[in-house]
Amino acid sequence: MKTTLRVVVWRIVALLLLALLSAGASAQSSSPVPTPSQFLGFEVGADRNLADYRQIVSYFNALAGASKRIEIENLGPTTLGNDMIMAIISSEENLKNKERYRGIARTLADPRGRSQAEIDGLAREGKAIVLVTCDIHASEIGSTQMAMEWAYGLATAQDAETKRRLENVILLLVPSLNPDGQIMEVEWYRKNLGTKYEGGRMPWLYHHYVGHDNNRDWYMLTQKETKAMNRAAFLEWFPQVWLDEHQMGSTGPRIFVPPFSSPVSANLHPILWRPIDQIGTTMAWRLEEQRKAGVIYGYSYDAYWPGGTMNTAWWKNCFGLLTEVASVRLATPVEVEPGELSGGSKGLVEYHQQTNFPNPWPGGVWRLRDIMDYERIASDALLETCSNYRESILRDAAMMAMDAMKSGDPDKFYKISLEQRDPPTAARLAHLMRENGAEVLCSPESKTYYIPTAQPYAKFLSEVLGTQRYPKVKLVAGQNILPPYDVTAWSLPLMMGVQVEMEKLSAEAQRGLRPLQETDWPSGSAENPSASVFAVSHETNNVTRLINDLLRKKGNVSIAGEGFQDGGNSFPAGTVLLEAVGDPSALAKTYSLELHGLSQKPGVRSDRLRDVRVGLYKPWQASMDEGWTRWVLEQYDFNYKNIDNKAVKGATLSKDFDVVLLPDVSKDVIIDGKRKPQEGQSSYFQDLPPEYSGGIGKEGSKNLKDFVERGGTLVALASACDFVIDEFNIPVVNTLARARSEEFNCPGSILRVQIDTEHPVTYGMLKEAAAFVNERIAFRTSVPGPELTRTVLASYPGDAEDILLSGWINGAEKLERRAAAVALTYGKGKIVLFGFRVQHRAQTEGTYKLLFNALHWGGMEELR
Ligand SMILES: [Zn+2]
Repeated sequence: MKTTLRVVVWRIVALLLLALLSAGASAQSSSPVPTPSQFLGFEVGADRNLADYRQIVSYFNALAGASKRIEIENLGPTTLGNDMIMAIISSEENLKNKERYRGIARTLADPRGRSQAEIDGLAREGKAIVLVTCDIHASEIGSTQMAMEWAYGLATAQDAETKRRLENVILLLVPSLNPDGQIMEVEWYRKNLGTKYEGGRMPWLYHHYVGHDNNRDWYMLTQKETKAMNRAAFLEWFPQVWLDEHQMGSTGPRIFVPPFSSPVSANLHPILWRPIDQIGTTMAWRLEEQRKAGVIYGYSYDAYWPGGTMNTAWWKNCFGLLTEVASVRLATPVEVEPGELSGGSKGLVEYHQQTNFPNPWPGGVWRLRDIMDYERIASDALLETCSNYRESILRDAAMMAMDAMKSGDPDKFYKISLEQRDPPTAARLAHLMRENGAEVLCSPESKTYYIPTAQPYAKFLSEVLGTQRYPKVKLVAGQNILPPYDVTAWSLPLMMGVQVEMEKLSAEAQRGLRPLQETDWPSGSAENPSASVFAVSHETNNVTRLINDLLRKKGNVSIAGEGFQDGGNSFPAGTVLLEAVGDPSALAKTYSLELHGLSQKPGVRSDRLRDVRVGLYKPWQASMDEGWTRWVLEQYDFNYKNIDNKAVKGATLSKDFDVVLLPDVSKDVIIDGKRKPQEGQSSYFQDLPPEYSGGIGKEGSKNLKDFVERGGTLVALASACDFVIDEFNIPVVNTLARARSEEFNCPGSILRVQIDTEHPVTYGMLKEAAAFVNERIAFRTSVPGPELTRTVLASYPGDAEDILLSGWINGAEKLERRAAAVALTYGKGKIVLFGFRVQHRAQTEGTYKLLFNALHWGGMEELR
């Protein structure tokens, strides 16, 4: 009762203050400001207590209403429609002049045409723009609670040191980069409090589409949250420093702070590491002063991969830092026995004292409050260092931008012509670079895009538009090189199937260019618009959108099974034929496609497409690949529904679906709902509530076989292929199923595959493609009996030397001549196995078509 009353009083005070401020009254900064606990009515940071995102936003709003040191910016709606907020925290004086300081940050980020004297002057005058993002991984929730306390502390402190920091720094504090997931996690936690599931994981992803991979999206910018933060950072605020606060496992070090681990990308400016390491070292120092044990640096997290928040920022001349604090079970304490403490990651092989880990945590109870305390000390150390070194940080950010510009040639451009296989995807790559903050130009009629190599984000461009070779860094002499933290390749032209060339332009040609506008897309056109049959190339990804749009409207869409001639033009097998399309010019414009009106319906065999009903399998062991696949299917307007274990076992599978699509989920998870423990590992498994437990079982497996035998189509992605190979009697084996990582390792690289382009699943592909590979899968087919057929759709080259296009691979010879994708007929139905990642993280647009075609194949009569 007492607590409730206090809350009510504080809320009234806060509301009154808000009312006063909005009425324009000049409230003085001495007005009482509620603490988070006072405002929310429970002790923030106490065991088993969590504020959800809506409460956090209401607190930040109240704080901004009561303090002149805080303003709130709405970054925009999230995937599920919550507002994502960013608090701008600084001295009252700085906030009054924030446009001026933002302008300085922008100029320092793009100092083209400025003298060193001007840059030095701006560095003296400017403020350090410091971005702190919390909780991108929703279960790493401590920082969302800490953010409220930190903001309160900064808003109310009257000591000279805090005031000095706020005079030097404009802090952009994002209390959650994943508000939807934060709310899901808190709701799940509250629901299961006091049960045996308390603090356990959820049976679904903590981002509606991409789960944990929301931190793998920072150059591709597919998700709303990524787009919004990217815009605020690289098009509006230009922070010089970005700290992203995470949590890691419970049984290792207590906190990771920079310096980062090896390897380091050779494409990054060396000055980058100096302020980052200085800040990280100050964090470690202040933690140690406050007797916080278990601080580590040079551990696990490397400086090589550009896919995460602050990682991408390195290539954009921003000092990006990461902290990772040991987790609890959301807000439930954990007790760690000393013998359970372990290293096991690069930088800490065994859990022992060493120079980068001088004070190991001895074990014991670890709670939410510990996480928040460690994070708060690290966050304050960030402000301390950034205010101490404000001028250097600003000057060095400009130095990186200048040096990046000098690394390019002012007359040399990346050229993306629309005269290529898939013009809308080519345009998408140019627009993506622009959205990332790079300067992108185009020819006056917008037929060719030119991206200057000499510009502030030159390093970012050369990174994502070039190819990678993973450095063979060894810590000790011997065979083993340092493993990568994530994937080893991100060559967007290869992944998207877009041709990017280098071109030198004369001064005159350069004068003719103009900035690319958001509206500059291939216009598309309809030739002979009064024709009754139209031919459209199968080579673009957008043709899938057009097909699905027309099928939804009961349009007549078919695929030419052979090449044909019309009006002097030749059209290859796989050409899409449309009849009675309504307004062809409007369609051409909507999808940026060329529609060719034919003089007559071609006299070759063609196969009509149906609007396929896709069942996308969704396990209770939340699968990010399921989420990404769902997202891609929605982007291309497929008619899909999720199916869970119950639906796979159900009697209506054949009735309800034409195609069952298994995302990259392991066989054990599909069948049993849990992964088999690896050798030497505990088989202990924490159950989910019964309604979310188990897999499809033998029953579901048999039902899937019946589904295919009766005419259904089964498409399996990556590791789900092992399920099909083992459960179905097909003449395919995975020769790498039991390979150890010493024998074969390809942790996310781009490989060359050769395509048989004569099959409905491969129509529109070129004879060679770049395939993204991150699993141990290589198919060997054998000659089947008459009851089924098998076709190798894609295979690896015969010489291991020819296989790697970008990234790193060990054991490439094990792929020589092996199949990478196989199509089979099985009973009356069809099976497609993709060993490589056709839609990996929605980045491999160059191989999307294979997935789309496989789904459409399930809606057409088999071509013979
Ligand atoms: Zn994380």
